[in-house]
Amino acid sequence: INGHGSDTPSPALLTVLSGPSGVGKTTLAAQVRKAHPEVWLSVSATTREPRPGEADGVHYFFLDRPAFEDLIAKGEFLEHAEYAGNLYGTPRHAVEERLDAGQPVLLEIELQGARQIRDTMPEARLVFLAPPSWEVLEERLRGRGTEPEDVIAKRLATGRIELAAESEFDVAIVNTTVEQAAAELVRLVTAPAEPA
Ligand code: 5GP
Repeated sequence: INGHGSDTPSPALLTVLSGPSGVGKTTLAAQVRKAHPEVWLSVSATTREPRPGEADGVHYFFLDRPAFEDLIAKGEFLEHAEYAGNLYGTPRHAVEERLDAGQPVLLEIELQGARQIRDTMPEARLVFLAPPSWEVLEERLRGRGTEPEDVIAKRLATGRIELAAESEFDVAIVNTTVEQAAAELVRLVTAPAEPA
């Protein structure tokens, strides 16, 4: 995976964090950002309604479907996908600017988007965040309490399929605790400290 035969993988400039809904991608990405503010976390666009506490331009750019589709037509997304009835996409320019400037970039996206990045940006490192077990994933998705039952059912059905995709990824991290998973992800996105 790291090509050097050592325990410390060389950091990738572009890291894609993917995995089933409810596995803890958002929490993990936020942890990494907190510990390493030099890692830039892309803000996606979506057509879904904001959840309580979510701010436009911070958690997502909230767009209506016509506006989103207009941006697709203009090629403004690096990748985009329909997920559980809504559109999600990564704005292209902000990511490209950061990468050009040599800043590490983290994308937190679902599986179809991760596959598009794999095909269009082969230099990206794809990280799969897996739950310790299926039961834990189901529990977390329900426990979040942010979605009605029909939405949860849709996400769980998708999650079963998503779990099978782990083998397509460069690296898998099991989200046993957020601290351990964050430490593993940090090693993948940041350069190890120079030996003294
Ligand atoms: P949520 O509605 O829970 O915020 O996100 C639903 C799913 O969409 C999550 O798996 C999340 O990682 C994914 N997602 C968020 N932003 C993007 C994006 O820009 N592109 C893609 N393909 N998926 C995204």
